[in-house]
Amino acid sequence: MSRVIDLYDFLHTIPELGFQEHKTAAFLAGELKKAGFAVREQVGGATGVVGEYDSGKEGPTLALRADIDALGHMVNGQLCAMHTCGHDAHAAMVLAAAEELVASGSVQRGKLKILFQPAEELGTGALSMIKDGAVDDVDMILGVHLRPQEEITQAQALPALYHAASERLEGVFHGVPAHGARPHLGVNAIDAAAVAIAAVNAIHLNPNESYSIKATRFLCDSGVTNAIPAEATVTWDVRAELNSTMEKLIEKAKSAIRAGAATVGATVEVTNYQSIPAAEYTDDMIALLSEAITAVYGPEGLHKPVKTAGGEDFHFFIKEKPSIKAGYFGLGCGLTPGIHHPDMTFDKRALAKGQAVFVYAARKVLKR
Ligand SMILES: [Zn+2]
Ligand SMILES: [Zn+2]
Repeated sequence: MSRVIDLYDFLHTIPELGFQEHKTAAFLAGELKKAGFAVREQVGGATGVVGEYDSGKEGPTLALRADIDALGHMVNGQLCAMHTCGHDAHAAMVLAAAEELVASGSVQRGKLKILFQPAEELGTGALSMIKDGAVDDVDMILGVHLRPQEEITQAQALPALYHAASERLEGVFHGVPAHGARPHLGVNAIDAAAVAIAAVNAIHLNPNESYSIKATRFLCDSGVTNAIPAEATVTWDVRAELNSTMEKLIEKAKSAIRAGAATVGATVEVTNYQSIPAAEYTDDMIALLSEAITAVYGPEGLHKPVKTAGGEDFHFFIKEKPSIKAGYFGLGCGLTPGIHHPDMTFDKRALAKGQAVFVYAARKVLKR
């Protein structure tokens, strides 16, 4: 049997939710130590694992990153952790690549760093590791995700997966309560929220930049229907292909919401949260992964880069430390019926290919 499939098979039996990946992290840390890595555990205060293999020679620090958390699914009315996003596969490929690189003497300059990151699905795992210094000395970082069958075939991989930025915006509107018979003495929070929603819908950015903003929740209930409600809360879901577009959109939306509230004499507190940045890759890392994919699959296996509306907290590594060069490839693996589907399945033979792409790219960076 192949090492990478053995690793996957084991990790698949111990799915754990974000920041609770205790068994997974202990196993990965133990295997990294056996392979000769210096290992730091509980990185980020929870279940992050960082392995480091220092060549002792001048050179770049290259990080290979895998997320390790599972998803929660309701099965027969019970919440169960299941690996339906393939993070067990990502961890298996990165660990097998790390072992192969060290065993074959391929870390000839600089450092090879392995990041096993918790809680990708919560959107906060990468940040927890960054705050704990996991990428302070990292110059380059590579990541991977399994791709669904309708995107690429099993005979293909793609050298750049462009996730969109996503964010939530919330407005809490404060009016003045009054009797329903005397609306002129109150300020109706529903009116304020409705004007704000219309104002946000009237925002126009350059149509060549892809984005969307829409209200996705409206909460208002003063408990009675014969009085002027004084409190309302509206949430907007915001998406943009580029981080620069997201910044403009958030700024315009905040002023539209404030202006909307002011129109009827209400006040509003606006906050943005659950912010995940969009992908930003450097050309040389896309070229590196294209070369690695071509070497592993042959030229016909190199698919073009793909855009996806999904988010990935990997992009915090670049946002929080902009000097890092990042690359992120997508692995074709016959995945059906879809990522996050409770019946998600794929062909495990693809794992050896993903391992080989990591090994090829890392050798190229760390050879003397
Ligand atoms: Zn996921
Ligand atoms: Zn995922």
